[in-house]
Amino acid sequence: MALQAILDRIRAAEAQAGRVAGSVQLIAVSKVQPDARVREVLAAGHRLFGENYVQEAAVKWPGFRAEFGAVQVHMIGPLQTNKAKVAVELFDAIHTVDRASLAEKLAKLAQARGVCPQLFVQVNTGAEPQKAGVLPGDLDGFLTTCRSMDLPLAGLMCIPPEGEDSGPHFAMLAGMAARNGLSGLSMGMSGDFEAAIAAGATHVRVGSAIFGARHYG
Ligand SMILES: *Cc1c(COP(=O)(O)O)cnc(C)c1O
Repeated sequence: MALQAILDRIRAAEAQAGRVAGSVQLIAVSKVQPDARVREVLAAGHRLFGENYVQEAAVKWPGFRAEFGAVQVHMIGPLQTNKAKVAVELFDAIHTVDRASLAEKLAKLAQARGVCPQLFVQVNTGAEPQKAGVLPGDLDGFLTTCRSMDLPLAGLMCIPPEGEDSGPHFAMLAGMAARNGLSGLSMGMSGDFEAAIAAGATHVRVGSAIFGARHYG
């Protein structure tokens, strides 16, 4: 478990970029990790986690929250509209708002409940056909749609194309957020979180560098 080493690297990257200490939040991505590894990170005092699958999170987090008290869990995987109801009850933030039908569903749920998780809009910065996310050219219109529904927009999120330098994608996302008056930037994973912090990330999503490799059953 390498939590402290990652926290140290985040603090160093903040300082290097001339950013305020503590301005970057570490989302420990616990998807598919054995409970024993997650428990270690909780026992070390960490209280912000990321999950990709509604079902898995619904099994895992009620128990951990009962055991460890308040824990923030953010949804960072693709969200099916028919799982939105469970998702808004379970997660403190959703990083993957990427289409009008999902935004509408979330708005309805928010109206009914009177509260809504913080929302990030996922942008497909590389315009990859197989990847989720709003295309860069469609973003401003999509944000207008979300705002017309009174959704609480925290910021933007991206997953740069594999095998490409992430830097230009992070810079693009930061530019789009600034242009739209959004302060949250969810970007950076195990291999590139320091570059993301240099580009302004407010939330880095780090899994394997904390927990070790994932083993999909
Ligand atoms: C799995 C995942 C991560 C964590 O990836 P690592 O390379 O293990 O740090 C971050 N963001 C998203 C969207 C993911 O699906």
